[in-house]
Amino acid sequence: MQKEEFFHALNTVIQSPKRITVLTHVNPDGDAIGSSLAFSQFLQKLGHQVEVMVSNDFPGFLAWMPDACKIHIYDKEAELCDQILDASDVLAILDFNHLSRAGLIQDKIKSLNVNKILIDHHRDTDFGEFYCSLSDTQVSSTAELVAETILHFGEHYVDEAIATNILVGIVTDTGSFSHSIFHPETFSICAKMIEKSMPYNQIHRLVYDTFSENRLRLLGFSISNKMEVLDEYATAIISLTKEELAGFDYQVGDTEGIVNYPLSMKKIRMSVLVTERQGVIRFSFRSKGDFSVHEVAQKHFNGGGHTNAAGGTLTCSMEDAMEKLHQILPEYKELLNQE
Ligand code: 5GP
Ligand code: MN
Repeated sequence: MQKEEFFHALNTVIQSPKRITVLTHVNPDGDAIGSSLAFSQFLQKLGHQVEVMVSNDFPGFLAWMPDACKIHIYDKEAELCDQILDASDVLAILDFNHLSRAGLIQDKIKSLNVNKILIDHHRDTDFGEFYCSLSDTQVSSTAELVAETILHFGEHYVDEAIATNILVGIVTDTGSFSHSIFHPETFSICAKMIEKSMPYNQIHRLVYDTFSENRLRLLGFSISNKMEVLDEYATAIISLTKEELAGFDYQVGDTEGIVNYPLSMKKIRMSVLVTERQGVIRFSFRSKGDFSVHEVAQKHFNGGGHTNAAGGTLTCSMEDAMEKLHQILPEYKELLNQE
């Protein structure tokens, strides 16, 4: 669906007051939360009754975001969440495009026979039918698409809360404007948001300078003690077991960003963070240039994402997960060694 067509279809949905539930992906990040909050705040201004819902909790460094405290977390209040979902006239699916990424909410999404709206920037949509969808992989973030949507309806809708939430989405999904910028409009949109938002320096500080001592020491430990560098594959792998995480009093979000550090080595093309979570092993992939970690995550690790940032999971032991990761590297040796 083209952008203009999406705006037109969305306009017909939002003409009359509705109960709209905005859903975003499991293990929500800054873009998931920022885009969902901004979109819900925009819909509220139009007179809709809007709730934001996620499968599980988001990192503490996002808790200050305007209206973050109103987000419903399914694994903490399933009954209330089910009531909200059952009463919804419309579901808005933001920042994910695979049903499995909805976590605990996926069965409910499947069973509800209501109009669904998609706003997302991931590759290879794998979902049911949407009433309307804005799916564009050539944008920094879902927050950028939400900003474009709101600006289409009128710049006067952008207030401090919306602008701040949009900026958090863009800043976090671009690694503070260091990647995933595909066109200059990302900066034009940010400029418009910064005019209205909380001071930008403050936003940056609230997102990035809030580490606990344990979180910073975990980062140091990960790089110093746990990073395996495989020159042959221009790849670095960091693995963290449950026990190691517990040793640093792991809190949700504490491993966020660790995977990016190995890429700062000139010789590294792909970085992988492997963490042991409740019953599953989570993989976080990052790459530089054309090497697509989306392909790797999709083919071997039940996941996906973007060319330069992807994730996946395996249900197995840490030993088996590491063995699998090492086993698949030869398949990509040539691509990993291309300039
Ligand atoms: P992260 O490594 O930060 O968890 O995720 C990087 C990117 O990959 C994000 O854009 C995220 O949406 C996507 N991603 C992470 N895990 C999965 C997964 O299990 N499946 C899919 N399809 N995408 C994922
Ligand atoms: Mn995103």
